[in-house]
Amino acid sequence: MENFIEQLKQSGLLGRSGSNFPVWKKWEAVKGAVSVKKFVICNASEGEPDVFKDAFILENYLPEVINGVKIAIGEVGASTAYIYLNKNFYQKFKQKIINLIDNSPIELFEKPNGYLAGEETAILNAIEGKRIEPRIKPPFPTEKGLWSQPTLINNVETFYWINKIAKGEYNHNRFYCISGETTNKGVFELPENYTIEQILKETKNYPTKPLDYFYQIGGGGAGEIMLDNELNQPIKGLASIAIFSKKTDLMALLMKWADFFGNENCDQCVPCREGFYRIKEILQQVQGKICENDKQTLQEIFDVLEKTSLCPFGRTAYKPFKSALEKLF
Ligand code: SF4
Repeated sequence: MENFIEQLKQSGLLGRSGSNFPVWKKWEAVKGAVSVKKFVICNASEGEPDVFKDAFILENYLPEVINGVKIAIGEVGASTAYIYLNKNFYQKFKQKIINLIDNSPIELFEKPNGYLAGEETAILNAIEGKRIEPRIKPPFPTEKGLWSQPTLINNVETFYWINKIAKGEYNHNRFYCISGETTNKGVFELPENYTIEQILKETKNYPTKPLDYFYQIGGGGAGEIMLDNELNQPIKGLASIAIFSKKTDLMALLMKWADFFGNENCDQCVPCREGFYRIKEILQQVQGKICENDKQTLQEIFDVLEKTSLCPFGRTAYKPFKSALEKLF
């Protein structure tokens, strides 16, 4: 365990929350920080629509995840670790986790309602009892996290693989969540460098008429729309594929996203709060047909969201709209 961060570095493990950030860098930053108290948080808040891979991991590999948290406590010198669980997970796994804690300084925290309460800096506010909204970065949680102390935040799947790395069993796989219009939806463990097409074929989810479908990659909320000719690449963010028939009511789908992001943003900054309101307003007005003028206005809103939003929510949640408008309309 002495050189565990070196082991992490050699493994090349990237954060499995969709951030793709090298895990060892966070660990090294928290381990190297000089502070009386340090914290570890296991983010088990999975709230992206139609994504259920962390639910699968908790259901099947809970001891491995908790062991990953224990390794983190020892390695970075944390005084306390929090398992931050969404309401379903809290009800379902609370007692099982308590049984696995032994004498480790691990506490459970039930996530408040809302998608945004799963964002890493909003988690800090939630645990501190503050308003649920993202904090401006920098400073990053590794420098100034819970109660301004260095804090390591990784998600459920990342801790699962940390346990594997510690045991010398890391095989460079990841868990993929497949949902939508297919008969074999579920969670599958496959190599991290598989292309989307390979994943669909290997799991028997590749449509017999692929041109009749489109795919949302990276989450049922903020995931990007891709067509069949774009599937020859690995998934870069959240390992989720949702399959849609081209007969899908596209306006209803866009409205569903607009409702979701309009309701779930925290209202803290104007571009995001007003941006999703305006996107929804435009979609309501066009009644099924989007003209070039509307597309131009929407594109300007997307640009403002990307360039001026305060947190990753606003900077990424426009992507399904933008990619759908470019590829499906
Ligand atoms: S981008 Fe959206 S979610 Fe993020 S701080 Fe601004 S209003 Fe809140």
